[in-house]
Amino acid sequence: MITPSLIKELKALLGNDNVMDSEVDRVSYSYDSAVLESVVPELVVRPVNSETLGKVVSLCNENRIPMTVRGSGTNLSGGTIPSSTHGMVVLTNGLNKILEINEDDLYAVVQPGVVTATFAAAVAAKGLFYPPDPGSMAVSTLGGNVAENAGGLRGLKYGVTKDYVMGVDFWDVNGNLIKSGSRTVKCVTGYNLGGLMVASEGTLGVFDQIILKLVPPPAASRAMLAVFDNMAKASETVSAIIAEKIVPCTLEFLDNFTIRTVEDYSRAGLPTDAEALLLIEVDGHPAQVEEEAQKIMSLCTRLGASSVTAAQNAQEKATIWQARRDALPALARLKPTTVLEDATVPRSQIPAMIAAIQSIGKKYDLTIGIFGHAGDGNLHPTILCDKRDKKEFGKVEQAVDEIFEHALALKGTLSGEHGIGIAKSKFMEHEVSRATLGFCRHLKTSLDPHGILNPGKIIGG
Ligand SMILES: Cc1cc2nc3c(=O)[nH]c(=O)nc-3n(C[C@H](O)[C@H](O)[C@H](O)COP(=O)(O)OP(=O)(O)OC[C@H]3O[C@@H](n4cnc5c(N)ncnc54)[C@H](O)[C@@H]3O)c2cc1C
Repeated sequence: MITPSLIKELKALLGNDNVMDSEVDRVSYSYDSAVLESVVPELVVRPVNSETLGKVVSLCNENRIPMTVRGSGTNLSGGTIPSSTHGMVVLTNGLNKILEINEDDLYAVVQPGVVTATFAAAVAAKGLFYPPDPGSMAVSTLGGNVAENAGGLRGLKYGVTKDYVMGVDFWDVNGNLIKSGSRTVKCVTGYNLGGLMVASEGTLGVFDQIILKLVPPPAASRAMLAVFDNMAKASETVSAIIAEKIVPCTLEFLDNFTIRTVEDYSRAGLPTDAEALLLIEVDGHPAQVEEEAQKIMSLCTRLGASSVTAAQNAQEKATIWQARRDALPALARLKPTTVLEDATVPRSQIPAMIAAIQSIGKKYDLTIGIFGHAGDGNLHPTILCDKRDKKEFGKVEQAVDEIFEHALALKGTLSGEHGIGIAKSKFMEHEVSRATLGFCRHLKTSLDPHGILNPGKIIGG
């Protein structure tokens, strides 16, 4: 229980301003970016250094208080919605220092509350590159990115957050600081604890420091826009590009509804009668970039693109990527509620998955825009609705269930990048075996016997 004496102890530890129990503060941390019911916590606390973060975790365990650690709350799966009104939200935005950027050994050491874009800019200022680029990077934190294994537009060539995590130091539920990984390129000392912590969504430990790999930036890049009158042709082109042994750094698509909505929003001159747009970028050595761009453009034409253009300068490149960046804001302004999902299928199944989403939309009479990462099969069906309309929202929930069932039937996965949280925990047994789920539950109860760390997420209650 959160007793007055515990609040007093927390205030002595963290300072009065970092222990928040007003209704306004508690309601502010009762929801995140997922469209789910909010749950108001009893208390919100903000440790501002490593030691006090560890102490808060052990105090929660000793007093049997469930805790949900929160970066910026941009996750789309309910990972930071408290599991019950009895509990605490622990903010990490006070631990926001970049502790080291090592230019000789190409790594950085950060605290979990560092905002992703701030980090990427600090690294770029040193002539280095941190590729993971979630669409939310202007706000999301590195701790949240690691806890969700966030991906982004560059995932196809550069991978996702897990590919850059060299080590994670985390507080276990008893308040012990556990160190994993190293500053070396190779490290096989013992269990891969860092690997276990990636995508653990705050359920196994609380990150204190993260060691991230950095890479040199590409010397050149070229962006292209290909227009298709048929989604299957666009998808075939994606497979053909990969089969040609070209790995673009980015390979995205927009469906017809999204193209029309973006055009209506930004008037960038997109072809509103196109069934699909592919937005493609290659990067690397200048000569290689030119050769790959030429190959891609002729492949697009050969496989039925009605037009394909390459950006000739930075302005044209920015226009291409603005069309992709505008997809979500353009769709989101159509209705009060935006349900952004991330059903993911093998690349070759994109047309089948899109057809399934469109027919689910028709069946429930819902407006759904589809865009996403064509290169890795990670689709973002975006359902536009009004959550206050109970009848309509009931249909949305059924539609989302069916979208995931279809993704699994096509040998896909529940989440390419948004995590499981509360939103998809009920589907876990549809994707992983009973034994696998049992193993995960066993792991959770071994590491957190009293269910203190973000209970109810991923594997349910
Ligand atoms: C507009 C928009 C665009 C998005 N685009 C993308 C995208 O392109 N790719 C993508 O992958 N995601 C995307 N997301 C989802 C979201 O931004 C990511 O999941 C991001 O990684 C969450 O970071 P956060 O700091 O907001 O974490 P939060 O939402 O605060 O937390 C996420 C999870 O991490 C846990 N956590 C946070 N800090 C710690 C810590 N120190 N220790 C242990 N666990 C911790 C939390 O308990 C929670 O389970 C998008 C979201 C929005 C709203």
